[in-house]
Amino acid sequence: MNSTTTAKLLTQAEQLCQQRSVRLTPQRLEVLRLMTEQPGAISAYDLLDLLRKTEPQAKPPTVYRALDFLLEQGFIHRVESANSYVVCHHFEEPSHTSALFICDRCGLVTEKTTDGIEERLSKLAKDSGFALRHSVVEAHGLCAECSVIESCDSHDCCEHDHSIAVKKR
Ligand SMILES: [Zn+2]
Ligand SMILES: [Zn+2]
Ligand SMILES: [Zn+2]
Repeated sequence: MNSTTTAKLLTQAEQLCQQRSVRLTPQRLEVLRLMTEQPGAISAYDLLDLLRKTEPQAKPPTVYRALDFLLEQGFIHRVESANSYVVCHHFEEPSHTSALFICDRCGLVTEKTTDGIEERLSKLAKDSGFALRHSVVEAHGLCAECSVIESCDSHDCCEHDHSIAVKKR
């Protein structure tokens, strides 16, 4: 994410918290800021390592509490299958269904709008009498860049990094 996008998202988060009368403490804001700097999803422990650079006394519960808050406010999503977290790009729609495309090679997570999917899911839920509250669609595969690299067969004369293995799912 570039710095203007980051600044915009953080301002948006601050405004939403003000509107909702919830407290976005400097620590929670810092966790969100660190997350916006990630190209993909990040685990709680990797976040803790980053947070400790500015707050050496931070402990796992510090990060988990911040993550819980950010999840509650709909600012981030949990990527269940990768046991990590990613910033949401649709802050203003707290109850949206998110479709997360997860690259198994580089870890990049792209969130896409789910026109059609959301309707299908709620219809399926309704038909079975299920009260749907929250859903995340997680799709695994290769991002555009990694697809190119994985289909490259001239390993000796290219500039790709072929040392990264694709995670088996
Ligand atoms: Zn989202
Ligand atoms: Zn990738
Ligand atoms: Zn190559």
